[in-house]
Amino acid sequence: MKNFTIGILGATGAVGQKFIRLLQDHPWFTIAKLGASERSAGKPYKAAVHWIESTELPQDVADIQVTTCGPEHFNDVDFVFSGLDSSVAGTIERNFAEAGIPVISNAKNFRMEEAVPLLIPEINPEHIALIESQTFTEDSSGWIVTNPNCVCVPLAMSLRPFYDAFGIESVIVTSMQATSGAGYPGVASLDILGNVVPHIGGEEDKIHTEPLKILGIVEHSTITPADFKVQATAVRVPTIEGHLLSVSVKLKNQPDSMDEVHQAVQKWKNPIAEFDLPSAPAQPIHVYEEPRYPQPRLHANREKGMQLGIGRLRKDSVFDISYLALAHNTIRGAAGGAVLNAELLVEKGYL
Ligand code: NAP
Repeated sequence: MKNFTIGILGATGAVGQKFIRLLQDHPWFTIAKLGASERSAGKPYKAAVHWIESTELPQDVADIQVTTCGPEHFNDVDFVFSGLDSSVAGTIERNFAEAGIPVISNAKNFRMEEAVPLLIPEINPEHIALIESQTFTEDSSGWIVTNPNCVCVPLAMSLRPFYDAFGIESVIVTSMQATSGAGYPGVASLDILGNVVPHIGGEEDKIHTEPLKILGIVEHSTITPADFKVQATAVRVPTIEGHLLSVSVKLKNQPDSMDEVHQAVQKWKNPIAEFDLPSAPAQPIHVYEEPRYPQPRLHANREKGMQLGIGRLRKDSVFDISYLALAHNTIRGAAGGAVLNAELLVEKGYL
C-alpha cells in the first residue's frame, strides 16, 4: 500500500496551487501541511490564497492553517513539494533536507548542483542515483530532487530522440512563454495584453545549461554533461498556459532522410512505461502532422497537461532539422513534473 503524507512549500503561489489541484484525489499522496511566507502564515489556506485555478478549492485543503516554511512545522510529513520563490528556496530547502525531510523542488536554486538530480522521469530516470552522493544528513534521510525550468522540460524531452539517434552539435531555440510562467500576479496586464515582451530576466542562462545536465551521463554517482551548445531567446507572449518553442538543431551525424528523423521519435522508448505511475502520460511525446499544430490553447492540456507536443518537424535550410515543441508550463514544466518525479522516487524505493 503506497500511502504518503506530504507538505507543500510555497503553497499559495501559481505552482503551489497547481500542486493542490493535481494532488486532489491522488492515490498515493495526501496533503497535510501548507507553507508560505509570513504574509500568509496563521491564516486558513482559503483566506491566504488568491485561488487562480479553474476547479474549486478542495474543502479539506481550504481549512488547513498555513505556516511559515520551517521544517519544525512539517515534522509529520514523509516529504515536501516546493513551489517556493527562488529568492528564499535555497535556504529553506536546505533546512528541510538537513532536517531529514526529502524535498522535491521546482525552484532553480539546487538544479545545477552536481549531486542533485535534474529529473524528467521519461528522459533521465537513471539520474536518481545522484541522490546517493548527497550529504545533507548522515543517515541519507534528507535529500533534494529538482525538476527543470519550464522551457528546458519541452526542450530536453524533444531533443532526447534526436540526441540518441544522431548526436547533437548545437541548438537554437526561441521560447514563446505563457504569462502563468511568471507566477501570480506575474506580468502587468498593460505590459502583455496585445503585446510581446522580448526578454525574460534570468531565463536564457537556464536554457543554455540545464538541457546539458539533463541529457548528461551518470556513472558512479557523478555526471558528465552533454557537450553541445544552446543559444536561447526567451519571449513572453499573451497566452495563459503552455510554452511553445521554435527549435533548430544541428546534428552530429546526418540522417539519410527526414523519414529517418521522424522514425527516431517513433522508435524512442519510454523507459518508465512499465511502472504504471499515476501521473505518467500514456504517450509522453506526440508528433503532430497537421502543420497548424501544436497550439497552446488547444493542446497544452493533452494527457492532463503531461504530454509534449512536437509539430512542423522539417528539414532546416541552415541547421539540419527544425520543429516546434509545446508543453504545459505549470503542469509538465512544474507541479505535474514534480509529482511524477515523486512517483518515480516511490517506485525506486527512495520514498
Ligand atoms: P509565485 O506565484 O510568485 O509563488 C511564490 C510562492 O513562494 C508563494 O507561495 C509565496 O508565499 C512563497 N514565498 C515568497 N516569499 C516567501 C518567504 N519569504 N518564505 C516562504 N514562502 C515565500 O511563483 P510560482 O510561479 O508559483 O513559482 C514558484 C517557483 O517555481 C519559482 O521558484 C519558479 O521559478 C518555479 N517555477 C515556476 C514555473 C511556472 O510556470 N510558474 C515553472 C517552473 C518553475 P506568499 O503567498 O505568502 O507570498
